[in-house]
Amino acid sequence: MITRVMKIVSSRWVLPISRPVIEDGSVVVADGRIVDIGERREILSKYPGTDEFRCPGTLLPGLINAHSHLELSHLRDIAAPLPHHTFTDWIAGLLARRSTDHTSREERLAAVFALLRDQHASGVVLVADTGNEYLVELGKAAEGWPEIRRMLEYLGPDRQGDEAARLAIEGLDGLVAITGHAPYSTGPELLQYIKGRCRQFKQIFSIHTAESNAELQFLHSRTGIFRDFLEKRNRWDDTFACLGENCSGTIDYYDRLGLLDDRTLMVHCVHVSVPELQLAAERGAHICLCPGSNRFLKVGTAPVTHMIEAGILPALGTDSYASNPSIDLWREMQLLADDHPDLPPEQILAMATLGGAQALHVEQDYGSIEPGRKGRLLHISSPALLQCRTATALIREVVTGGRPVETSWV
Ligand SMILES: [Zn+2]
Repeated sequence: MITRVMKIVSSRWVLPISRPVIEDGSVVVADGRIVDIGERREILSKYPGTDEFRCPGTLLPGLINAHSHLELSHLRDIAAPLPHHTFTDWIAGLLARRSTDHTSREERLAAVFALLRDQHASGVVLVADTGNEYLVELGKAAEGWPEIRRMLEYLGPDRQGDEAARLAIEGLDGLVAITGHAPYSTGPELLQYIKGRCRQFKQIFSIHTAESNAELQFLHSRTGIFRDFLEKRNRWDDTFACLGENCSGTIDYYDRLGLLDDRTLMVHCVHVSVPELQLAAERGAHICLCPGSNRFLKVGTAPVTHMIEAGILPALGTDSYASNPSIDLWREMQLLADDHPDLPPEQILAMATLGGAQALHVEQDYGSIEPGRKGRLLHISSPALLQCRTATALIREVVTGGRPVETSWV
């Protein structure tokens, strides 16, 4: 006879995300999966004799960091741009810093591992990581780390870059997920090629999108800071087409290239229009917001309310230390609430959990406390949280209170 390992986890508050908050709630976990959720009284009578663990605080699903660059974890000394700096000044600074970087491989890996341990300790269950380097060490799951979804990122602004990228991609195992960098650094045909491979292997195509307003000028007329940047680096040829004013923005551009579907994750989306958001929603494409990075680079704030109105629940990401002084999803929630005071806190919490799970196609495991999901429950507590008397006050504190004093996995 197969015996099931079953336990009941009870807490003062349970935030399932996908359904209303349960006060004095319980979650039943059997063999690593959630099998039931409800009011404690009800659950205890339904599962008599089952071991119960009682937690004093709040249970919620693990947070999902839907955009990061782990390989940049040692770059904690990049200065924020000054008012006269452009977006490409920051990119040039980052590239110069990376090309003259003497940090040893061991030190760089130590910074990545420290960040992963901290992400796990803070309540992050899964990190989506985009990088230019294949860090083989990240392929093995380690105790005390979140799960990692890695994507190897390719650029190619000219014919030479396009050919080099294709050659490198052709040599990869199908299990290695790849992605494109941005519409100003990766030519249209290479983006289509990468998306085609993502479709073939059912992988997420995550791409920086409409992060700065200079992107629109580049798409319209092939002029501006991105053109200057590529010319200065001798990477300019006729790879990028001039779209003219009839292209309404980056999302529209992606749609013309056939890049939008439910496995496309557009990161940032600061400079996007309402019709573009409606188009993204129609295609089922996802969005990841990085409010901390946007604030650091002073590129503006994403039109989150318009995204919600279009029917899109964005995900949240931290980006890396190269554009964010703190890699902390609790702070991202705080900043989003600060940037958008009218945004309901429940929606912000849903972005940090369910939004990320949907965007990365892991909602069968994570993002909500529902039967069938993995039984990895996050328990949080703090003096301020313990004082909350209503679900509304509690969720507001969860979203605006920053990283809780206590976070643990149950
Ligand atoms: Zn990024």
